[in-house]
Amino acid sequence: MRTQVGIIGAGPAGLLLSHLLHGEGIESVVLENRSRADIEATIRAGVLEQGTVDLLKAIGVGERMQREGAVHHGIELRFAGRGHRIDLSELTGGKAITVYAQHEVIKDLVAARLAAGGKIVFEAAEVSVHDFDRTTPKIRFRDAGASKELACDFIAGCDGFHGVCRPAIPSSARTEYTRVYPFGWFGILTQAPPSSHELIYTHHARGFALARRDLRHATPLHAVRMVDRRHRLEQPLALVIRDALEHRPIRRDRFEQLNRFAQPIAISTGASPVNGTFPVSIS
Ligand SMILES: Cc1cc2nc3c(=O)[nH]c(=O)nc-3n(C[C@H](O)[C@H](O)[C@H](O)COP(=O)(O)OP(=O)(O)OC[C@H]3O[C@@H](n4cnc5c(N)ncnc54)[C@H](O)[C@@H]3O)c2cc1C
Repeated sequence: MRTQVGIIGAGPAGLLLSHLLHGEGIESVVLENRSRADIEATIRAGVLEQGTVDLLKAIGVGERMQREGAVHHGIELRFAGRGHRIDLSELTGGKAITVYAQHEVIKDLVAARLAAGGKIVFEAAEVSVHDFDRTTPKIRFRDAGASKELACDFIAGCDGFHGVCRPAIPSSARTEYTRVYPFGWFGILTQAPPSSHELIYTHHARGFALARRDLRHATPLHAVRMVDRRHRLEQPLALVIRDALEHRPIRRDRFEQLNRFAQPIAISTGASPVNGTFPVSIS
């Protein structure tokens, strides 16, 4: 197999790059080690900046985002017990943020690539890069059990920090910029009346919290994300969740409403000993 640009990773970066190259008449092949169903269901980001929204529209991938996404013209910052609305649109000459889940962007990009005749190899196993530093780099992988080699003019490593491309670049030729924060985060997904249309970012003596509405489900859902320096996940999860809800990022009246109706249905965590999203029930 041969292509101009071999792209490893079908995340937002790899798929968008492939579609942009297509627009310039440059062919590419995307190799992804997970299944299409898996990448289209992995819950991650939810907020798109204006530049991303403009780009997706410009390349013809923004139609569903415009129909189903929620445009927020402001956010609320809460500290010292008070809320302060920041009018993003007024301060930036009309710009806004759009709440539209990353896996929905992935679905739109995959559909656009396939409709344009693009090649994506899902479930590509044992992906490895060779001759990265020569003029004829190659990617080797297994596809449905068969060994394959993809000769390329360029390889684009879009497989994230834990992928195979970063370590394949000799350390003498790579500079890494990282910042490790001394805390983790977790999210609680609850089925409850929304406390606010816009995002709420809260500073509290016990950490930072973000409350946002989740648009993935027909019923109103409320996600509370809490980062707390002292309360890491060494504690029993139910206690951590109770603590997060008690040190609420939302207004008292809305909290009482949430407390009455909220049914936590899932939590997700990151940068901690426990990673991933899993269902939870609190007695
Ligand atoms: C909980 C959470 C919330 C976030 N919220 C926001 C937000 O609101 N707004 C925002 O802008 N950003 C947000 N982000 C960040 C955003 O999700 C990332 O910046 C984005 O996913 C990076 O895209 P990417 O394509 O570079 O990498 P990834 O999305 O990580 O994609 C990499 C792809 O490469 C594949 N891959 C890995 N290794 C291999 C291999 N060896 N062979 C083949 N394929 C491989 C992976 O399966 C994956 O599909 C959030 C992230 C998280 C985790």
